[in-house]
Amino acid sequence: MARLDEVNESWVLQNDFQRQWAEIRQDATAAMEEVGARGWYVLGREVAAFESELGASLGCEVVGCGNGLDGIEIALRVTGISPGDKVLTTPLSAFATTLAILRSGAEPIFTDTDDRGLLDLDQVECLLKSDGSIRVCLPVHLYGECLDLERLDSLGKSGVTIIEDCAQALGASFGGRVAGTVGAASATSFYPTKNLGCLGDGGAVLSRDPKLAQAAKRLRDYGQSGKYEHDQPGLNSRLDELQAAILRRALFPRLAGFQQRRRRVAERYLSGIRHDGLRLPRVQKDSIRVWHLFPVLVPENREGFEAHLRDLGIQVGRHYPTLIPEQAALGSRRLSDASSRFPNAFRVSRCEVSLPIHPFLTTHEIERVIDACNSWR
Ligand SMILES: *Cc1c(COP(=O)(O)O)cnc(C)c1O
Repeated sequence: MARLDEVNESWVLQNDFQRQWAEIRQDATAAMEEVGARGWYVLGREVAAFESELGASLGCEVVGCGNGLDGIEIALRVTGISPGDKVLTTPLSAFATTLAILRSGAEPIFTDTDDRGLLDLDQVECLLKSDGSIRVCLPVHLYGECLDLERLDSLGKSGVTIIEDCAQALGASFGGRVAGTVGAASATSFYPTKNLGCLGDGGAVLSRDPKLAQAAKRLRDYGQSGKYEHDQPGLNSRLDELQAAILRRALFPRLAGFQQRRRRVAERYLSGIRHDGLRLPRVQKDSIRVWHLFPVLVPENREGFEAHLRDLGIQVGRHYPTLIPEQAALGSRRLSDASSRFPNAFRVSRCEVSLPIHPFLTTHEIERVIDACNSWR
């Protein structure tokens, strides 16, 4: 294949917000006009209406907040996390998953993933049995793949508090149950790259329990129970009226269509990419993926594969190249032996490459990605 600089092609991007803008522009500007004309910018009727529409579609209460990180912290706090409590989570995720645990004063405990990078629920069950002091588990539906919600539900019923990180998996489901509705509380993010991404920062806490949702509403607003009455030290973490209006009028109504387009890209990749050196993502029975990412495992020579794609104008990503327990920000909790403690997660972190997947890829771009993969070596 000819390199990008030899042909008149442009980059195939990981995300394409300009094409998204072209598609949502009318609805988004109308939403902004309406909020501007109303002159009410924080915690007004746009946020309430968006919360109730998203909640109705998921089957739970939704409480908008400033971002996904805060959403996880608030979810941990409303379910009664206390300083020093142990929270079992995955070593392979956005750093925010563990940062929320640290910010809530709790202690992150990591266990390995399966060979695809998703939290290994066998090991979770084992560890919970062997260490009775761990009462909270924070699983992540990584890459848009839904973990086994039946198993998470039975863990919850056995007394473990489940907090689902749905930042990459809004709308994903398992056995007919929707991600985010099984945990005592859950959180998601509307960061622009997410499947339901706004035009800035945003997030939400999800819960089936109206009391927890009420508690989350207090926490996001300085811990106020009434005007100038503060029960607890809360956050300033409110979803803006502008973002809520844009989400509700321009993006949420398109979410099903966007998910469908992501699914079509994934199906085309799965049938078109044929290469012995690449392991494609799996499609599991019962689990409906929303294809936030398309992670390919390249056990040998990841750098070579990435360079080949880049030469052909394909932008690639890594999710995530460094395990959370390896990060310097963990300070004294940092683990120098992460590679032997979490061999699966470590292997994924060292061989994963994310191919472009978003709702605005053209058929031609999808074929370029497939040809680029198949022409490697
Ligand atoms: C994006 C993301 C977050 C954090 O969301 P922000 O809105 O960026 O704070 C948390 N967890 C996962 C798995 C994410 O992908």
